[in-house]
Amino acid sequence: MPGEPQADCLFCKIVTGDVPATIVRETDTTVAFRDINPQAPTHVLVIPKAHYPDAATLAVQAPQLCADILREAGEVAAQEKVDGTGYRVVFNTGSGAGQTVWHAHAHVLGGRGFNWPPG
Ligand code: C5P
Repeated sequence: MPGEPQADCLFCKIVTGDVPATIVRETDTTVAFRDINPQAPTHVLVIPKAHYPDAATLAVQAPQLCADILREAGEVAAQEKVDGTGYRVVFNTGSGAGQTVWHAHAHVLGGRGFNWPPG
């Protein structure tokens, strides 16, 4: 079934509390926690509690959850006080783009300047 927890998924284990994480926000459908290898002063991951392997699959199978994640990205930015200066939301989708964890997640990055195009 789409969205079912996966026993071997690290982020599903963060949702259940079986793997520790520094959680900064939680809603009925999402969890936001600090990235363990931060790439900016603010680097928070926003994930759906339900399991979808990547953002593209999530968009097709659970579009409301995409909206939840983007809304939460904005809430994280406000909570972290990086909304005024600007922040970046990244969905690495596929290994060629740098995706390493196969549970959809948004990176919310802020607190420093960013280059364009991204590296
Ligand atoms: O986009 P990508 O799949 O590479 O992002 C996965 C992110 O999950 C990485 O930034 C990594 O540091 C983070 N991570 C984490 N906590 C873990 C394992 C990975 O924050 N326990």
